Amino acid sequence: MRAIVIHAPHDLRLESMPAATPGPRDVVVQMGAGGICGSDLHYFHQGGFGVVRLREPMVLGHEVAGTVKAVGTEVTAVKVGDKVAVNPSGPCGECEYCRRGLRNQCLDMRFFGSAMRFPHVQGAFREEMTVPEAQAVKVADDVDLTLAALCEPFAVALHAVAQAGDLTGKTVLISGCGPIGCLVIAAAKLAGAETIIATDIAPETLAIAARLGATRCVDVSGGTEALADLAQDKGRVDVTLECSGNGRALTSAIELTRPRGTIVLIGLGGELPLPMNAIVAKELNIAGSFRFDEEFARAAELVSTRQVDLSPLLSGSFPIEEADAAFALASDRRRAMKVHFRFSEAV
Ligand code: ZN
Repeated sequence: MRAIVIHAPHDLRLESMPAATPGPRDVVVQMGAGGICGSDLHYFHQGGFGVVRLREPMVLGHEVAGTVKAVGTEVTAVKVGDKVAVNPSGPCGECEYCRRGLRNQCLDMRFFGSAMRFPHVQGAFREEMTVPEAQAVKVADDVDLTLAALCEPFAVALHAVAQAGDLTGKTVLISGCGPIGCLVIAAAKLAGAETIIATDIAPETLAIAARLGATRCVDVSGGTEALADLAQDKGRVDVTLECSGNGRALTSAIELTRPRGTIVLIGLGGELPLPMNAIVAKELNIAGSFRFDEEFARAAELVSTRQVDLSPLLSGSFPIEEADAAFALASDRRRAMKVHFRFSEAV
């Protein structure tokens, strides 16, 4: 049983890694599909991001789905043969934030494929993996495992939309249409947004944004003049969901969002100067959104029942022997949205 292990930037190795012997409440998952996320790309190209750095070899990956191969003696939620989306989030359940129901803010979080703590929490790009029962979320038997592997980033999008309040009938701007931006578009549409404006600097991604529900797509690579109508009367956008992490996009959001409107920040972008006076005078609500909590189960349900079609995001899948090629494609935003590994030929 093999895993994709990163040793240093651009140094991926396939290594033998048998699944751990399951405890009574554990599930052994035979992995089917795994999506490459932006954080995987940061480890691959730069060895990390911000203060989070690789300090030992680590299995990458946290967007995975597979089939249950074995269960511990006390497992009741799933059985052998079930398809599951693996929730990579392992909150402690005991800290102040877990007890308050804010498990994504856990003080002792174990998140698959993350170098945030040391020793690192090993990831899920492996042929077999043992996970706690609570992290193996059943999906419908007829769901493609590649789509099931989108439950994790879709949960991120559902959580972000949940921070924005009721979107019914609203005009919503989504800036940055990478995988998370496109999933936020799908989530905003499900939440009842009436007008969904998508901005990006790549026409290829905007074409996919339109397929996921954007009603107006604007290429801002040459400037934001095409958004001028939205800046009238102090701004006409009710809610902006900022997914690019780009400072100019945030400045534009502050200009376009109406007084008392809401801006949710999902993209990570380092330190930026902020037009404080506009935020104050327009009484804007600015909120961050990080990962997800109970939204993972909702994502699994929405994907299982086909209430949402996320297939426009799929850019191709690679056997794990071709990890370098998969990461190269995933790094090219003009050619790829979401690239997956396939861990068994059954997928
Ligand atoms: Zn906790």
